[in-house]
Parts: sequence; structure tokens; C-alpha cells
Amino acid sequence: MNPPVLLRDVEVQGAAVDVRLHHGVVAAIGPGLRPSAADTVIHGGGGALLPGLHDHHLHLLACAAAAESVAAGPPEVEDRASLGRVLHEADGRLAPGAWLRAVGYHEAVAGDLDRHGLDALSPPRPVRLQHRSGARWTLNSLAIDRLALAEHAHPGIERDSAGGPTGRVHRADDLLAGLIEADPPELAPLGARLATYGVIGVTDATPYRRRSELAALAEAVRTGALPQRVTVTGGIDLLGVDLPEGLGRGPVKVIIDDGAYPALVTLASDIALAHAAGRPVAIHCVTRPAAVLALAAWDEAGTHRGDRMEHGSVLAPEQVAHLARHGITVVTQPGFIAERGDDYQREVDADDQDHLYRCASLLAAGVPVGGSTDAPYTHADPWRAMRAAVDRRTRHAVALGPAERISARAALGLFLGASDHPGGAERTVAVGQPADLCLLRVPLATALAQLTAENVAATVCAGQVIYEAS
Ligand SMILES: [Zn+2]
Repeated sequence: MNPPVLLRDVEVQGAAVDVRLHHGVVAAIGPGLRPSAADTVIHGGGGALLPGLHDHHLHLLACAAAAESVAAGPPEVEDRASLGRVLHEADGRLAPGAWLRAVGYHEAVAGDLDRHGLDALSPPRPVRLQHRSGARWTLNSLAIDRLALAEHAHPGIERDSAGGPTGRVHRADDLLAGLIEADPPELAPLGARLATYGVIGVTDATPYRRRSELAALAEAVRTGALPQRVTVTGGIDLLGVDLPEGLGRGPVKVIIDDGAYPALVTLASDIALAHAAGRPVAIHCVTRPAAVLALAAWDEAGTHRGDRMEHGSVLAPEQVAHLARHGITVVTQPGFIAERGDDYQREVDADDQDHLYRCASLLAAGVPVGGSTDAPYTHADPWRAMRAAVDRRTRHAVALGPAERISARAALGLFLGASDHPGGAERTVAVGQPADLCLLRVPLATALAQLTAENVAATVCAGQVIYEAS
């Protein structure tokens, strides 16, 4: 059992108070609470005490694996020569014969690589290179041979006219994970890092298809490697599967793949299946046609409390109204504007530029909006995402969709909804509420002016101090 914690001189809803945490909840709030001998005392120095942040959409295993991988896309890698260089540098750090895993690739670096293109840049070991969308891997020839990929029947394996693998593998993480049999990546460094941002909970939005992947997450929660509350979605394949203990159950993740749109009837039937099992859905939509299809499927299948659209990267005005009519939540990632906005300026239709990663217009239309990082696909620090929601500036300082800017307070609010209701009522610091908290070094007004994780002084989850700044 955690010892009681006394937070002295903290700012709660504008008032200077002390706050006692006991048995995992906020036990008392008031001026001049008396410390007891058992208390762990933290001096707040007038800093704001907030509900801890919940990141409503990220990918834990991919995040942890990315930390053990080579960054192979912009801004670290900008061209063919630098890609070859980082792959060869990584080669020198790896055991002979070990896999080289590289992530974050974008076509701007060296085109749409196939096995031969990657062979030309690879050291002599199996290499797999993930596209920054997360949807595609390119394998070099040594990797293809190692896995005997030619003999597998997965529909995601792209083949040339002679039937041989081209090296491109689309949405086949389940196949690759089963074949490569790497140990699950180390989750403790990720859990510790998220705690430094004030994150007390995450929703892992991966469409996991295998219970073993959930087992790795549950084990990390059990051991405290992940000290946060973890909600998982899982794909439709795991609909009827019991979750391992320690994980919260989120919506069913449904992917609308822009490379191969599902039939409307299939999509509607997946939604109906999830709803019939008492689960909402979280539908991945990153283009305008995907959003049209998702909304048509919702029209067909009906909606359920907690249904959400993930990303909603491109939403036309009529789609915003449609979402509002259905009461569907959008879980957005403002960080994409900051990190990829310059590419969007080049690559996205001019007509759609103002419709990218909407925020202000969704809120104005009454659509609940939850915030997230989609880490590792944007930086895992929610404070960066908040800054992006406020200023909407790309790396090259271009304002993208400036009409979608929101206030710093609204940006913070994107991360204060409950895990099962992103964009719903904010959690509060109140007696009887879970002691899931983020203590800042500074008052709220200062924190909102700065929006930086450097202001996080301590993070508490279920009454346990999981991070304290030195
Ligand atoms: Zn995602």
C-alpha cells in the first residue's frame, strides 16, 4: 500500500491549498493541512496541481521499439546518402546477424524503396525499414530470405509479376511479429519518459490481433514498468477475447486503409458487431474519402456511446456537421501539423489544406475532441501537441489552418478527458477522485503561456508518485 502523500502549497482551481492523497484517491483539500508522520511530503511552491494527462491515442509497443530503432526519415535523414550512412552506423553497434530496424521513412528521402533499392543502401544484415505512416515495411533481400517471405500467403506481401516479394509489406505487423520473434521491446524507459510529461494514462490504439501482444502490455503494467493506466483497443479479431488483467478496455479499432478501401457493408457490419458486444468503435480515417466512408457506415450501423474517429486528418465542413449530428468524438493529433506540416503543404490538395487536423471548428460545432500524440508517429510529449494546437506552425514556421487554432487552456483540456470519453467532461482535482495528478512548478497561468513539459514537477498515478523532478 502506498504511503499517504501530502502536497503542500499547490494551486487548485486558483486557490492555494494543501492536498492529501490516500488509498489512491484525493482524501482532503484545504489550507494548512497538518502533516502526519507517515506522509510523504512534496512542496508545491505555489505550482498548479492538475489532473494528470491522458494521451488518447498512441502505440506503446511501437514507441518502445522505435526507441531501439534507427531514425530513418526527416528531419534526421533527408536523402539517400544520409540514409545509407545511418544504416551503416547502426550496423557497427549490432551483433552479427541481428536485425536492423529503421523507422520514420518517407519517400522524400530516396523514393518508394523496394528490396533492391534498400539492398543498395543496406549493410550485410537483415534490414526492415518502416514507412512513417506505420502502415508499410520495406525489407531487404537478406530479410526476405531470412523469413522465407516468398512462401507465406499474407495478402499484405506485395509481389512482382513473377510472384516474388518486392520487399514491400503492407499492414502485416502480425505476420512480421510472428516470424521475427524478437523479444518484446523494453517498456520501462517509455513509462518513465511519459511520467516526466505528467502522463497518468494512455489509450493504446493499435489494432492488435494477437493476445500475446496484450500480454506484454499487461505484464509491464503488473511489474510497474508502465506506471500509467493503460487502456487498449485491439482490432475486431480480439472482440470476444478476454483482456489480461490490468488493462482497461477501450473501443474496437477499425482501420480504413486508403490503399484498399473496405466495402461499406463490411465496415458497417464490423461496427454493428462491436456495438452488439457493447463496445464503441474507433475508426482510423486519414483522408477525406475515408471519412466519407466511415460516416456512411455509421449511418448504416448506428452509433454507440464512445464511438470515435481517430485522426480525422481531412474533414470537409459537411463532415464536421455530420459528426456533430451523430455525437461522434474526434481524437486528433495537432503534433502532425508541427512535425509534418511542411510536407502537407506540398502533398495535400490545396482544397484540403484548411481542413487538416481541425480543432477549433470541431469544438465550435459541438464535436467532442480528444488530444493525443499517436506516438511514435509524432513526439510522445503532449505539451508539444498542445503548443501545436495553439500556434499551428510547421517546422518552417508556416501557419497551417490558422483558423483552427485554439487557446492554451482548450489545448490542455484535450488531454483532461476521461479515458472512455475523450473530449467529454474534464477530470478534476476533488476529494474522492482518483489521485491521478500532474504537479507543475508554476501557476497555471504561467504554464499555459509556456506549454512545456519542463514545468512538470511531479506525476502521481493512483496515489503513487511515479515521477518527481530533481
Ligand atoms: Zn495511431
